[in-house]
Amino acid sequence: MGSVYETDIAIIGAGPVGLFAVFQCGMLRLKSVVIDALDTPGGQCSALYPEKPIYDIPGHPAVLAQDLVDHLTAQAQPFRPEYLLGQQVETLERLEDGRFQLGTSQGSIVRAGVVILAAGAGAFGPNRPPLDGIERFEGTSVFYHVRRREELRGKRVVIAGGGDSAVDWGIALADVAARVMVVHRRAKFRAAPESEARLKALAEAGEIDLVVPYQLHGLEGDGAALKAVLVADLDNQVRRMEADILLPFYGLSMNLGPIAEWGLALERHQVPIDSATGATNVPGIFAVGDIAAYPHKLKLILTGFAEAAQAAHAARRLLHPGEELHFEYSTTKGVP
Ligand code: FAD
Repeated sequence: MGSVYETDIAIIGAGPVGLFAVFQCGMLRLKSVVIDALDTPGGQCSALYPEKPIYDIPGHPAVLAQDLVDHLTAQAQPFRPEYLLGQQVETLERLEDGRFQLGTSQGSIVRAGVVILAAGAGAFGPNRPPLDGIERFEGTSVFYHVRRREELRGKRVVIAGGGDSAVDWGIALADVAARVMVVHRRAKFRAAPESEARLKALAEAGEIDLVVPYQLHGLEGDGAALKAVLVADLDNQVRRMEADILLPFYGLSMNLGPIAEWGLALERHQVPIDSATGATNVPGIFAVGDIAAYPHKLKLILTGFAEAAQAAHAARRLLHPGEELHFEYSTTKGVP
């Protein structure tokens, strides 16, 4: 069971827009808890293109996507947001007192007066290989990312995939794991050429096994403990490899998932809003950034920033009705 958090605003999504919403809410003295399925803040910027320069952020002729995220996190920090990372918001319900209660995949509970949905195209999660019963092994013998190399010391590890993660981990685990077997459906990898060359050199030296061209076919185990990974070649000839750990590295995808079940109107995977306030069809739930839709919406970071400011002000009016807010520039107000 996770912890219980009481806050003014629950922000679903720590992408660039969710992060800026923390700042805007903070400037209006509203406290935020931010939840994201990813282990780090940054949404698409960090997960999909951290090292690409962005050219259309006002005031930045060019800024690397990860640098933008780092700046946004630093800008939000004076307001001391609580980040609940690596957990997906699964449930959202309204309590009798009118507040919202959110439940996450880690069992955390967040109670908030207002919800700001900054969920982009949905929660990021790993692409799972379609293997029967794989859920049984997840978290015990099947992992979609590695936290510490040391945890795999002495294990027989099968890595599946052909991109940078598969190749880099194949190299990194070669001298830690008891055996590393890299399964890919082609002989050619989609990774940095020098990394691919290193991986192939390790295979030639007999330090790892390259299992190509093969695809994952099945898993054998005892309870949650993996015993063997079955792979099949293009002629469907099955080969059995004894293994303790499977690391499927097939990239990330985004999934709206439970958001579709919270009573929000959805149009083509987006939530229609009043563009002046971010209000959705559910009073108290606002939407900003890529997930928010209205006519001629530009799905850009700068648009999301403005939406976050509008939504923060609307949230403040909702949480403190009748309380006149004297408008001040940040230059006058400063930050804590
Ligand atoms: P996202 O960045 O998508 O973040 C949403 C977050 O919400 C995700 O981290 C997700 O895990 C989380 N989430 C969703 N649902 C849940 C849930 N139920 N529980 C927990 N967490 C959840 N835009 C520009 O303005 N300029 C550019 O030059 C530019 N270049 C781009 C290049 C590429 C390759 C790509 C892919 C996009 C580019 N974009 C660019 C678009 C820009 O990245 C998006 O507009 C921006 O990331 C949207 O921010 P967001 O905060 O709304 O959503």
